[in-house]
Amino acid sequence: MTKIIFALAVSVLMASCAFAGGLEVTTLVETQGQSDTGLLLNASDTLKAEYFPEGKMLSQILAFWVKVGDNGILFDTGLRAGNIPAELAKNGVSPENVKMILLTHLHGDHYGGLVNSEGKASFPNAEVYVSKPEYDYWVNELKNEGVISALNMYRVNQFAFGDEVVAGVRAIDTAGHTPGHVSFLAESGGEKIIIAGDIMHFQTIQLPHPDVAVKYDVDPVKAVQSRKFLLDYAAWKNIPVAGMHIMTPGIISVTKSGEGYVKQ
Ligand SMILES: [Zn+2]
Repeated sequence: MTKIIFALAVSVLMASCAFAGGLEVTTLVETQGQSDTGLLLNASDTLKAEYFPEGKMLSQILAFWVKVGDNGILFDTGLRAGNIPAELAKNGVSPENVKMILLTHLHGDHYGGLVNSEGKASFPNAEVYVSKPEYDYWVNELKNEGVISALNMYRVNQFAFGDEVVAGVRAIDTAGHTPGHVSFLAESGGEKIIIAGDIMHFQTIQLPHPDVAVKYDVDPVKAVQSRKFLLDYAAWKNIPVAGMHIMTPGIISVTKSGEGYVKQ
């Protein structure tokens, strides 16, 4: 677990949380592993070999606990019966203390942690927030049983792209990876961060080559457009980007470089 407090858009690693009125971002590490380069789309074998000569890519799943003003917000939940509650406990947050869960999208590595090992709600006092197009896709169109049973354990609030979902947190349309995929712009005390969900999966290749997509993208063309839109915006405004598959601590600042981006 890494605790990062932002001050004047400069991220500083600190151990305390005595920063009033701003943002306090804690990275929660669910799991780390390896993925095969066969997952990549729009990447030649030569390009893959340039970045991953062994054919394997580091991958991980993260969630974020963010204090926005007075509110503690859990962004995504990791895998079903995973260790996000234990990661929160290390930060002094019990499952009962979690009141707001904002989901970037409804893939299992993001909503699954809503359900604990006993098949019950992991966070009994929480309300869940999910975008309307995302809800419509998984619940009404696909009728996905895992999603439906997990969401049924909670009071669910749907929001539209562009809405202020909760105080200080606005939903940005970054659809493509899934039809209702959102990123969240959180702002408090003049500090900002974007919680960008699956805006990229393998930054080693997708930052310099943002056209590279993954097989998990429901609409790879749109996913690429959304990646470029969000990273252009973050680079222009100099806002840090937190991503659930960005390498630990899962938060980067980017600048434009050629056709792609580099980490600052
Ligand atoms: Zn994911």
